[in-house]
Amino acid sequence: MSKPLPNSIYARDVEYLLHAATNARKHEETGPIVIDRGEGIHVFDDQGNKYIEAMAGLWSVAVGFGEKRLADAAYQQMLKLPYYHSFSSKSNEPAILLAERLVNMSPDKLSKVFFTNSGSEANDTVVKMVWYFNNARGKPNKKTFLARVNGYHGITMASASLTGLPVNHRDFDLPILPVKHLTCPHFWRFGLPGETEAEFTDRLAAELEQTILDAGPDTIAAFIGEPLMGAGGVLPPPAGYWTKVQEICRKYDILIVADEVINGFGRLGTMFACEYYGIEPDMLVVSKQITSSYQPLAAILFSDEIFQGIADNTAKIGTFGHGFTAGAHPVATAVGLENLDIIEERGLVAHAAEMGEILQRELRSRFTDHPLVGEVRGVGLIGAVELSADKATKQRFDPPGKAGAYLFARGHEHGVIIRAIGDQIAFCPPLIITEPEIMDMLDRFALALDETWAFVR
Ligand code: PLP
Repeated sequence: MSKPLPNSIYARDVEYLLHAATNARKHEETGPIVIDRGEGIHVFDDQGNKYIEAMAGLWSVAVGFGEKRLADAAYQQMLKLPYYHSFSSKSNEPAILLAERLVNMSPDKLSKVFFTNSGSEANDTVVKMVWYFNNARGKPNKKTFLARVNGYHGITMASASLTGLPVNHRDFDLPILPVKHLTCPHFWRFGLPGETEAEFTDRLAAELEQTILDAGPDTIAAFIGEPLMGAGGVLPPPAGYWTKVQEICRKYDILIVADEVINGFGRLGTMFACEYYGIEPDMLVVSKQITSSYQPLAAILFSDEIFQGIADNTAKIGTFGHGFTAGAHPVATAVGLENLDIIEERGLVAHAAEMGEILQRELRSRFTDHPLVGEVRGVGLIGAVELSADKATKQRFDPPGKAGAYLFARGHEHGVIIRAIGDQIAFCPPLIITEPEIMDMLDRFALALDETWAFVR
């Protein structure tokens, strides 16, 4: 990309927009890629270039781009009731129906829903709900959250505090709440020399229990985790990890919060990743694929026990003093309902399981032995290839991200939008992807990978 021409749409972008997760000085030199439209698994930029969206946007667009049924659902709802709120006992039908549907499709223990507009707001809300609940049940010291290094829970003040990525803390004066970040459950990177996967799981479980005992169990409120970590690099946990985490949390009356903002609605080939890993959460956070991100929406599902505690407190102090202007939005929830209809009618969860097997098989068979690749990993339709400067020693690149950034750019040249998380390359295509499209995506990636090898070797 070259410096944008004066007055072009690119120059105006540079003049007026601050971009998320972007080096603003570099952006002044390169300008943006303006995405103009999308269809199926593809997007097109305003120059007419076609790309496979191997990340479904930001792990989002389950049903693909250009799904007219979602546009119609939004349009019809806008004509009927474009907006209403959920404060002071007001409600609207799509929000009620979506809440009912989410409860019926989710793990048994979850019986109520609170809607927000984003995953970050949802996780901030989780923190507030847990604190409110613990105050209500006479456990006011139970406030600390347990999270993990490389976990991602969002970027608002509380959710970014839970996030375990330095880039989301640095120079933002975060974390601001009591949180302890435990070892990242990624065996390949964090396993010790000679340690087996089972020993790694045991070590992480021991660390969890010791952390609780050191702080005092009456100070630890909740454990929050993505069942399979996404934005930290697509990191499936070691075998047995979630069983042990749950045993320990239950022993010390610590709530379990499953953040399925990426995992939820079929990504791992099951409706929720909690099913895949046998997790019974007290709270479940979902977003993104709930509307295929055609509308901003997130939801917290939570147990009756938590609801009863909160409800009693509202009776005592007068209200639940929390909520968003656009929470339980009728257009977003109507789109969510239609999106879930599409996922069900087209059997997209089973399809994701089937396509996921192909994706995982092909990623491993084609790239495990590549000289630039340290590890290939993933479950279902989410996967990653981690680049390493030295395959044998798992050495990182200097500077970190050098190879990933190059590969990311080469990918664009070959018509595939992947995500480079440092030197970890993520794949998370729309659930509708077909076998030939997976092959096409990986062929393009393979070209970019070989060019990156030529660049760094
Ligand atoms: N939680 C997880 C697991 C996520 O992956 C994300 C976003 O990627 C969030 C929370 C934050 O969601 P949002 O970007 O909608 O605020």
